[in-house]
Amino acid sequence: MNKDKESAGLIASFQVDHTKIVPGIYESRVDEIGGDFATTFDIRMKTPNKEPAIHPNAMHTIEHVVATFLRNDAEWKDRIVYWGPMGCLTGCYLIVKGRPKPQEIQPLLLRAFEHLRDYEGAVPGATPLNCGNYLLHDLPMAKWEAARYADILKTSARYEYDMTRRLDTSSGVFFDS
Ligand SMILES: [Zn+2]
Repeated sequence: MNKDKESAGLIASFQVDHTKIVPGIYESRVDEIGGDFATTFDIRMKTPNKEPAIHPNAMHTIEHVVATFLRNDAEWKDRIVYWGPMGCLTGCYLIVKGRPKPQEIQPLLLRAFEHLRDYEGAVPGATPLNCGNYLLHDLPMAKWEAARYADILKTSARYEYDMTRRLDTSSGVFFDS
């Protein structure tokens, strides 16, 4: 049944073996909504459980600065549905209208993370009026993480989960992680 779904090319719902994930840009899932597609990308910044995850304060700053950048990017702003951190703090999710390939959003993400790497000034939206925890920020550490991920995007980005890294979901039980 899951094989049928995959061969239909519509829903890329599968569970990934997190012991094998390395930093990169991956298509996490594709949803069809009202005749259009919404693609969720796994923007993986850290190797899960093998290197330190991103500090919550830095991740919060990455959320603010990168979301602001994406929503103002001339080329992509109309297709950005959502940007936000993974709860495990090893990466972020990006939801985009349509069905672009990970390689097509690499230049956008590289621009966004180089923007954060070079960012100076106040973190956008880090005020009691705009944010639920406006003191939970760390711009210097966010810039450090951004520089590191931008370097990965330029030199060694991966774009596909290896097929051997997909876990058997024939039991029909899915969980997001
Ligand atoms: Zn906030």
